[in-house]
Amino acid sequence: MANEEEPKHHVFGLKDLSHKTLLQSDALYQYILETSVYPREHECLKELREMTEEHPWNVMATPPDEGQLLTMLIKLINAKNTLEIGVYTGYSLLSTALALPPDGKILAFDVNRVYYELGLPIIEKAGVAHKIDFKEGPALPFLDELLKDENKKGTFDFVFVDADKENYLNYHKRVIDLVKVGGLIGYDNTLWAGSVAASHDALLMDYIKLLRGYVMELNIYLAQDSRIEICQLPVGDGITLCRRII
Ligand code: SAM
Ligand code: CA
Repeated sequence: MANEEEPKHHVFGLKDLSHKTLLQSDALYQYILETSVYPREHECLKELREMTEEHPWNVMATPPDEGQLLTMLIKLINAKNTLEIGVYTGYSLLSTALALPPDGKILAFDVNRVYYELGLPIIEKAGVAHKIDFKEGPALPFLDELLKDENKKGTFDFVFVDADKENYLNYHKRVIDLVKVGGLIGYDNTLWAGSVAASHDALLMDYIKLLRGYVMELNIYLAQDSRIEICQLPVGDGITLCRRII
């Protein structure tokens, strides 16, 4: 039976992100977290997550169920050499660092070192800071620099892209040559709070409306890119996994 209190018009925005998922029920999401995610979450990831919850931009953080997915993927493909674009306080970064073998490496870019340094003491406590090479600044020039070196092409096992959505296509055009054939790229937030399927007259929060077109353009581009196989998962805010095949 329909819930009579359900709003007639759905407003896509922060509320959709508040439970960090596209599941239709907060209770079901809580069930997943409490049953399968929190009992397995590394104590330093928990500490980093709880610290980030106090930060004004905490809506940007990777949710813990998605962190668990990243961990699983990295271990499944035996990743050793990884790249991350968009670090914030480091939940995905620490998930990656913990999943990598002791000699694993992460090259991580973010325009804001202050956010990274909030999480760094916890990453150090986890004993994995030596795996991370953090570079402060816009990611595009760093990627262009990497591409100038022929020895860097096709060397990354795993790439996680979680930064400025307006540049995702620009990132893809570069990252595709940096990841190995058989390697994996994860593009985050590809369902953009569900707004990619919103009707023309839907009420969207400004920042959702502003960037929605870029996300939709990326989704169409990835679907027709013959260099990759793709799988878009409704985990977190949507993550599209791309396996490079040529
Ligand atoms: N992966 C992070 C986590 O697990 O919490 C969340 C990343 S947050 C959604 C996006 C990050 O991208 C912010 O920390 C922001 O500073 C960074 N960013 C924005 N524009 C960027 C750019 N042009 N190059 C690199 N980083 C950028
Ligand atoms: Ca994200």
